[in-house]
Amino acid sequence: MPITLDSRFARELPAAGLAWQPAAVRAPELVWFNAGLAKDLSLDAAALQSPEGVAVLAGNAVPAGAKPFAQAYAGHQFGNFSPQLGDGRALLLGEVVDAQGTHHDLALKGSGRTPFSRGGDGRAALGPMLREVLISEALHALGVPTTRSLAVVATGESVYREEALPGAVLSRIAASHLRVGTLQFFAARGQHEVLRAVADHAIARHAPQLGSEPEPYLGLLAHVVQAQAALLAQWMGYGFIHGVMNTDNMALSGQSIDFGPCAFMEAYSPRAVFSSIDSTGRYAYGNQPGIARWNLTRLAEALLPLIHEDDNEAIARATAVLDGFATTYEARWLAVMQAKLGLGAGVPAAEARALAEALLTLLQAHEVDFTLGFRLLSQAAGGEPGPWLALFASSTPDAQAWLARWHSQLPQAQGMDRANPIYIARNHQVERALAAAWRQGDLQPLHRLLQVLASPFEARSGDAEYALPAPREVAAGYRTFCGT
Ligand code: AMP
Ligand code: MG
Repeated sequence: MPITLDSRFARELPAAGLAWQPAAVRAPELVWFNAGLAKDLSLDAAALQSPEGVAVLAGNAVPAGAKPFAQAYAGHQFGNFSPQLGDGRALLLGEVVDAQGTHHDLALKGSGRTPFSRGGDGRAALGPMLREVLISEALHALGVPTTRSLAVVATGESVYREEALPGAVLSRIAASHLRVGTLQFFAARGQHEVLRAVADHAIARHAPQLGSEPEPYLGLLAHVVQAQAALLAQWMGYGFIHGVMNTDNMALSGQSIDFGPCAFMEAYSPRAVFSSIDSTGRYAYGNQPGIARWNLTRLAEALLPLIHEDDNEAIARATAVLDGFATTYEARWLAVMQAKLGLGAGVPAAEARALAEALLTLLQAHEVDFTLGFRLLSQAAGGEPGPWLALFASSTPDAQAWLARWHSQLPQAQGMDRANPIYIARNHQVERALAAAWRQGDLQPLHRLLQVLASPFEARSGDAEYALPAPREVAAGYRTFCGT
């Protein structure tokens, strides 16, 4: 067998979804394989890339012992509650158990219709699956918690969207696929025993220390609040815009999950939004922390019946925990900015915050690239302000003034480059690599971009073009799509 999986979720929580089989595909062909991740998980990379392994990654064969399972979940989509979403084009194949005994979900995406498919075809197109590969690998290399992509298999079948597209199946590794929406599903139906069992499973997977505490479910809420506050601070620090922060796309593990219309911001603007379906800008860059707080409030509501039998008491306790989001997020964000600005512990927090905010105001006013607007500061700290100043169009007294104020706090160039990537997954590079892959079958640009993004902090002269922002006319009209 190319892989051995446990089926803990399907075994322990049969009521949390439906046992289901992946649909076989016509001509599976391995397009991309994550050898590094396979190694980290002690998987047999050679076996997984063999025809038997590819059959598993395509959904054409189910490993012995695995019990593929379609998970149920609900979710607030753009603020409106959908009581039943669920794995409509995905399946939990089972769990990889690593050398430490930790369970990692292995799920397929694009593996055919399930009872949760509603009107959808259960399929995925190659382009969006490779997009998930690029973005998740980019986030991982930046040190941001994220689900990972293990492999992409082309199906040899067409998927019909506005046009016929090559189909694919992505295999995804996640700490778990439990979402805020998973708990919402059972809370909304009043299935409190299943709700409790799913919460217990989440605790066992993500915060086992809570198992022996007197208030484990309040503890679970606190754990997710803290994990999401830390995650959001990282997203904000790298200019990452998730694009569709529905509650079904927010993981209890604190990993980034479900990469549809996401993108890294170029010119700094809190209003930056790329998703074609986000017409109101609900999920714009600057709204993300507030949306996370809103989603966590939905999580708290779902957990109320487990927190205390008395509603008012449950609400009071949950509210106190939710209030911790702002405190943790602010502290995490400040720490991110202190590192990005090279400011040591000796600089008063209020001044560090003011400097960060003033810089962002400046970047916005001059439409400066967010990534380079921070990256080139290490040179300025080292006595070479020219490249940073050159980011600003013409007359830059305000940039000069900011630089002087920052210099007075004695920023340390050393370490700044480790907080400020030079390479991010720039939209035009992502589109170029994806188009070459799915339109021409040329994977070289994708491999090249993945190689660049694997070491985002270390400047390499041969990779200079990957550090450049998109031409302004490209950036202005850039839109991302869900690809469902
Ligand atoms: P997403 O926008 O990918 O987070 O998906 C939202 C919901 O729509 C989930 O329940 C998905 O399983 C479902 N879904 C998305 N695309 C498809 C598809 N092609 N076929 C069936 N269900 C889908
Ligand atoms: Mg989703």
